[in-house]
Amino acid sequence: MKAPAKSSGSSSPAAFIPAPSPASDPGRRPGEGEGLELFALLAQHEHEQVSAYYDPSTGYRGLIAIHSTVLGPALGGTRFWSYASDEAALIDCLRLARGMTYKAAVAGLNLGGGKSVIIGDNRTTRREALFRAHGRHVESLKGRYITAEDVGTGTADMEYIKAETNHVTGLIGRSGDPSPVTAYGVYRGIKACARYRYGSDGLAGKSVALQGCGSVGYHLAKLLFAEGADITCTDIDPQRVKRVVEECGAKAVAPDAIYDVRASIFAPCALGAVINDATIARLQVEIVAGAANNQLAEDRHGDLLERRGITYAPDYVINGGGLINVNAELHGWAPERARSKAGEIYDTLLRVFEIAREEGIPSYRAADRLAEQRIAAIAKVRRNFV
Ligand code: NAD
Repeated sequence: MKAPAKSSGSSSPAAFIPAPSPASDPGRRPGEGEGLELFALLAQHEHEQVSAYYDPSTGYRGLIAIHSTVLGPALGGTRFWSYASDEAALIDCLRLARGMTYKAAVAGLNLGGGKSVIIGDNRTTRREALFRAHGRHVESLKGRYITAEDVGTGTADMEYIKAETNHVTGLIGRSGDPSPVTAYGVYRGIKACARYRYGSDGLAGKSVALQGCGSVGYHLAKLLFAEGADITCTDIDPQRVKRVVEECGAKAVAPDAIYDVRASIFAPCALGAVINDATIARLQVEIVAGAANNQLAEDRHGDLLERRGITYAPDYVINGGGLINVNAELHGWAPERARSKAGEIYDTLLRVFEIAREEGIPSYRAADRLAEQRIAAIAKVRRNFV
């Protein structure tokens, strides 16, 4: 039996995946060997490979998980975190790697899914040797895995990695801030939701409740305002709210009040897990579509949205612009090409909604289906020795 992992595309904080039951090994006595079941964990979601590397000179302890390389090299950031246990680190790494496979697949990129974790205190100032050790670890996989920034790491760390391997993106002065591309993809995604829901993708006169006026939220507000949408916004940082109020004619509300705003669209662009038992009952919107990662606290909240008749744009589909931007750096795309690719999120979401309708499933599951269909189709094409 598969352990209860979250929906594929998700990358929310580690949900504990229990070790498989010893019932699968009749020779084992109850309570015996209930520790880490490495290969069972890999088998659970068909991960291809996990690499562990310890460097005694720096104390580096790193894991690299490669979920799938069917579509291309496995790409995913390096997370630097003080995990409670090695097992928790491994589970997080596996789960995040799998999410990257799905995200790249629905974005139409020729990338697979991977992720790495460095176990330790990410506030350390002794970074060069540590990240060079990580770079050597990445290099040992010979391009099967490409890394980038994630929680606890920054562009300067990527430069240390670069000293040991070319399989790293997000370098200083390269593709730069992904937020404008992400915001454009979210804007196109919101238009697709409007088309699906109202029959027209025009946003003039539509009301949007925007949570988070940070890098993505700000750029999104500008695009929505330019099209004539009415914005109600919030942020815990008053300066960021002020900017959107002044530049986009938005109305401001207190952070917690955003869930009660009556609007056409709720656009979460701040935190994960904002669609949960407490908030779903309060939402007075027809569409939930925003940039935040892991918007559903649990998969069942996607079902609850569906039951309430709210159209949900699966987060890893609509926020794929960031990954598209990384891909642009890898392949030397001009900025216009990255933007145009992010614009395709419009068609992808319409396809997701179509699959949902055809199969009678919620949109977050339909997104998984779309990703799996593409991976399976490409795997078949590549099966023959030609
Ligand atoms: P950011 O840090 O620039 O902005 C987030 C904003 O949310 C900040 O202004 C912060 O003050 C605000 N915020 C935090 N807690 C809040 C709360 N309780 N209520 C209201 N506002 C709150 O981050 P960002 O780059 O704009 O990313 C926003 C979201 O989109 C994140 O979940 C991120 O993971 C996701 N995302 C971003 C990108 C990208 O390209 N930047 C790509 C994919 C996904």
